Amino acid sequence: MALETIDLTAGRLIDQFSRPITYLRISVTDKCNLRCIYCMPEAGLPWLPKSEILSYEEIVAIVAAAADAGVRSIRITGGEPLIRRDIEKLISAIAAIPGIEDIALSTNALLLADQIDELVEAGLRRVNISLDTLREDRFFTIARRAGLADVKRGIQSAIDAGLHPIKLNCVVMRGHNDDELEDFARLTIDQPLFVRFIEVMPVHENAALQTETYVSTDEILARIAAIDDLQPVAGPSGNGPARYFAFPNAKGAVGVISPLSHDYCERCNRVRLTADGRLRMCLFGDQHVDLRTPLRGGASRSELEGLLRSAMAIKPERHHLRLGEPAARMRAFSEIGG
Ligand code: SAM
Ligand code: SF4
Repeated sequence: MALETIDLTAGRLIDQFSRPITYLRISVTDKCNLRCIYCMPEAGLPWLPKSEILSYEEIVAIVAAAADAGVRSIRITGGEPLIRRDIEKLISAIAAIPGIEDIALSTNALLLADQIDELVEAGLRRVNISLDTLREDRFFTIARRAGLADVKRGIQSAIDAGLHPIKLNCVVMRGHNDDELEDFARLTIDQPLFVRFIEVMPVHENAALQTETYVSTDEILARIAAIDDLQPVAGPSGNGPARYFAFPNAKGAVGVISPLSHDYCERCNRVRLTADGRLRMCLFGDQHVDLRTPLRGGASRSELEGLLRSAMAIKPERHHLRLGEPAARMRAFSEIGG
């Protein structure tokens, strides 16, 4: 559809390719307590100065404007969001914004068990947990820090608190963890867990890892289909790009996310807010709008809403990722709230 035929000022947030944008992912910090080999260099990154990071009040102001424009779902991510102090206060403030129907959290779960009560009380209803191995020695090799026991405690605390759905995100890397595919898939039989296998995506720091360890989701599915009859299912509610499959009578399901082999750009419903206040239009592109400068310059809620609406004109139709080619100027996923 041509840009001039779209009303960018009224109704829902619709981009120039007629996709309704209803989902905002918010990175609350660029820092992390792990150093996953596919995500971040071992030494960390040149962290953002505190003054450049949006305060909770500033994030809430942006979410309120986004809700006015039709955003309904929010994900809190990072970096590792649970290392930011009082994160439950942000969740509770966002939950109180009219129009916001769904708040989820992406976490490595190291600190989840300790914070679960406050998070649930604040309004958190569902969670995505990163877990790439079920073996402690491998956890250290992949995450470059210890902590599998804490992650397992975190997952159990989420089950006990009744969060639903609980999605486990597993980045599959040949020679690192692909021999655990079946063990991960079996977790979905007896427990209400949605295990999602993700193809390694390229960023500058991991281009070699990506070409050397890439496993397509077609191969992943073929391998776990050998366990038992695996049928396509609708999957849990949420905003994700995953395709789901389940074993007979399983309590959960297996999902695959394949940005490289089967991209989901046509169905894209999301934009991202970086920790330093840029609204990024695509995970793999540089198109963005700075919201922090106008916000700190006194922009009103309706002016922020106008900025969000006009940003729709620069959301690209699709990404152009190729195996082994790093996404433009992206050093790590944590920079943009992966
Ligand atoms: N720290 C939190 C966590 O690990 O869930 C939230 C931020 S993390 C950047 C969000 C998700 O991005 C995680 O599920 C992680 O596995 C995924 N991710 C990071 N780098 C990736 C890459 N190169 N390819 C595929 N997924 C990646
Ligand atoms: Fe940290 Fe998450 Fe990146 Fe791992 S994937 S280094 S836990 S931000």
